[in-house]
Amino acid sequence: MKIISPSNLTVDFGSKTLKPHESIPMLRREVLDSFLRFRAQSSGAHLIPALVTHLEVPSSSTEPYIIHHTSNNTKRTLAVDVIIGADGANSRVAKSIKAGNYTCAIAFQERIRLPEEKMEYYQNLAEMYVGNDVSPDFYAWVFPKCDHVAVGTGTVCAKPDIKAYQRGIRERVSHKINGGKVIKVEAHPIPEHPRPTRVRGRVALVGDAAGYVTKCSGEGIYFAAKSGRMCGEAIVKASEGGEKMVSEEDLKREYLREWDSKFMKTFRFLDLLQRVFYGSNAAREALVELCGDEYVQRMTFDSYLYKKLANGDRWEDVKMVLNTIGSLVRCKIVEREMEALKV
Ligand SMILES: Cc1cc2nc3c(=O)[nH]c(=O)nc-3n(C[C@H](O)[C@H](O)[C@H](O)COP(=O)(O)OP(=O)(O)OC[C@H]3O[C@@H](n4cnc5c(N)ncnc54)[C@H](O)[C@@H]3O)c2cc1C
Repeated sequence: MKIISPSNLTVDFGSKTLKPHESIPMLRREVLDSFLRFRAQSSGAHLIPALVTHLEVPSSSTEPYIIHHTSNNTKRTLAVDVIIGADGANSRVAKSIKAGNYTCAIAFQERIRLPEEKMEYYQNLAEMYVGNDVSPDFYAWVFPKCDHVAVGTGTVCAKPDIKAYQRGIRERVSHKINGGKVIKVEAHPIPEHPRPTRVRGRVALVGDAAGYVTKCSGEGIYFAAKSGRMCGEAIVKASEGGEKMVSEEDLKREYLREWDSKFMKTFRFLDLLQRVFYGSNAAREALVELCGDEYVQRMTFDSYLYKKLANGDRWEDVKMVLNTIGSLVRCKIVEREMEALKV
């Protein structure tokens, strides 16, 4: 991976620090999703391709929930004991149980098929760009998607301007993507924090429906998959393999508490990092400068790959904090001098 600063300072991230068995996978959702659906089906899940329109919430703890759905213009219902709402950021399940709202960022990306010689450059490389021109509070990216690339950006504070920021990233990479053909355009909300309620009655929310996307990296696929699995396993355990009705208390104890103790610290830490490093071009220059440090890279990959805050070396941590402050101050001074020169 390369990370590129507002002034185009470029740092290689990972080529030296990743161990031989470690990698950062890039995937196409259409491929992953159909693989997961097929795997669920071959393990015994009964798939019903349909649009869920709403839920009827029962008034007692023993009656079933009624799921209303339409398929091929036919309205149908399904009575169920427990629901896992995995229906994304615009979750109707969340709405039906009055789970409350979260603030959302917006992410926009174009999937672009490049001429062969240009695709070669991105065959094994992801790029992350930071700067006021590409996002006021997040980053922009070029990610390889097997036979094409995804070029995109995200923002929370300037959603109406998302297309201007998309033009920004396209300009930054124009020499690398010229001649490419846009094959798909995608835009979607990204939750900024967990919902106020993630379990109510016998309904639990997972993935984007619950609000599990980390700040800083905008990573949500791992957390969607992991929360779905944890919630499913919690239901199997609490229902004693389907013999006993589960309760809200069971879902909170077996799923929510487990989830929070495993991941909440990481979510809070990444929130802090986003606020420190994505707020101004000076801070972004400092971020890229710091990313050149091997210790910073190792800590980042250990946390990213193994999904827990890595335990570092105390003296190296002290050095890293001092370097961070040094870089932030230095870049702020340079920014101020540049502003003065402009005047
Ligand atoms: C442009 C963009 C780029 C991103 N890049 C990355 C990345 O590089 N890495 C990363 O980790 N994350 C990335 N994310 C975030 C990631 O996509 C999400 O966090 C992740 O997809 C959440 O998974 P999910 O299953 O919870 O929700 P979703 O992927 O949104 O899936 C929800 C599913 O529910 C279905 N559904 C919704 N409503 C209904 C209904 N009423 N009836 C029936 N079905 C319904 C939808 O069709 C969909 O299949 C990106 C997001 C965007 C928008």
